[in-house]
Amino acid sequence: MKTIGILGSTGSIGKNCLNVLESQNSHFRIQYLTAYRNIKLLYEQAKKFRPKAVAILKEDELNSYRKKFEDIDIEVLSGFEALLEISSRDDMDIVVNALVGAVGLQPTLNAIKANRRVALANKESLVIGGQFVMQKAKETGAEIIPIDSEHNALLQCIAGENVDSIHSIILTASGGPFRNLPHAALASVTVEQALKHPNWDMGQKITIDSATLMNKGLEVIEAHWLFGIEADRIDVVIHPQSIIHSLVEFEDGSVKAQLGLPDMRIPIQYALTYPDRYPADFPRLDLKTLQALTFEPPDMNKFSCLRLSYEALEYGGSAPAVLNAANEEAVSLFLNRKISFEEIPEIVEKALTECQFNSCHKVDELLECDRMTREYVKKNFNEL
Ligand code: MG
Repeated sequence: MKTIGILGSTGSIGKNCLNVLESQNSHFRIQYLTAYRNIKLLYEQAKKFRPKAVAILKEDELNSYRKKFEDIDIEVLSGFEALLEISSRDDMDIVVNALVGAVGLQPTLNAIKANRRVALANKESLVIGGQFVMQKAKETGAEIIPIDSEHNALLQCIAGENVDSIHSIILTASGGPFRNLPHAALASVTVEQALKHPNWDMGQKITIDSATLMNKGLEVIEAHWLFGIEADRIDVVIHPQSIIHSLVEFEDGSVKAQLGLPDMRIPIQYALTYPDRYPADFPRLDLKTLQALTFEPPDMNKFSCLRLSYEALEYGGSAPAVLNAANEEAVSLFLNRKISFEEIPEIVEKALTECQFNSCHKVDELLECDRMTREYVKKNFNEL
């Protein structure tokens, strides 16, 4: 029986993870659940899965729930400190980091320091702090197993292979809802249109990132750190059906791909059971029902967030942290209808020019860079 903590249990990945754990309940026991603000759902989850403790980041509605948690005898912690404390505890075999955004970095580092397996859905941990995360994992021997479907696919392709024999990796992207829209029409797309992803049902932030292709850009950086592959050997191909989740090309010209329905429960379960595979009863891929699998190159002019991500990775230091922070703030402005869709990459590009890149030697410096970039975006673009 393995013990698990889920950071971010009320989000899309967190809910899918609980769904997997419910179906595999003879193998896993839940120790901790944490949520950002949704205390109602956190309470429902706690009542069902009976963890040792839960944590809520935003405390606005906590008081009205304290007694309820007391009645089911579950400890409730609150605030960012609680998240840091829970991620450092050593009574879990696996920490699932399903937090959204830069806030996920420190909990990832804490779990690695405690030598837990980190099942990582928080790609920002690697985008911002990849160097520190991988270095620390090397020191402690902690495993980082990606939940992100592309990287989980890559891991499955690489399993049993010699990493030195990898020639290149190919990340697939659905292309998002605006793949076929003329470039000029991007300026007038609405929040509702951007939130309609063709294949995946995900949280709001990542859905917008999929529409701008920033999600794929962040994934290029994530892949670089996870697998130690340089940017010029990481390729992106648009594959609108989202059936092939990524591919690895080896030195001898052989290419391996991982296929499956676009269902996050598959990579989540693999991240929990790796390197084993447990039987699952999720819907299965039936190739006979597929019309075609198609591929095309991404349009880097139309979707400049992808180009900017390669540039930030090439530049190194704190550039990926600036890219990520500017994007998080720009997406939030777009979701709040303060800026247009086209202004998201414009803001990211301006931040990359205006905000200083230092070669960061400490995590604190990266976090400071993250903070300053957010301030820059808020100050300059809030009232466009
Ligand atoms: Mg992904």
